[in-house]
Amino acid sequence: MKIKIIGSGGCVSTPKPCCRCSVCTEARVKGVPYARTGCSLFIEDGNVLIDTPEDINLFA
Ligand SMILES: [Zn+2]
Repeated sequence: MKIKIIGSGGCVSTPKPCCRCSVCTEARVKGVPYARTGCSLFIEDGNVLIDTPEDINLFA
């Protein structure tokens, strides 16, 4: 089985919407890998998404 980890940032993505802390500000400026989406897994055999947060639309 071939899987791809799409997001590994935890239950809340970084940067958090409207947050002005230094971590979120740096993530907005530098992007990936500082910017991280919520946890998500893709199983390539069968094209199945698992535990996908709403920020998956960044990859559409
Ligand atoms: Zn923040």
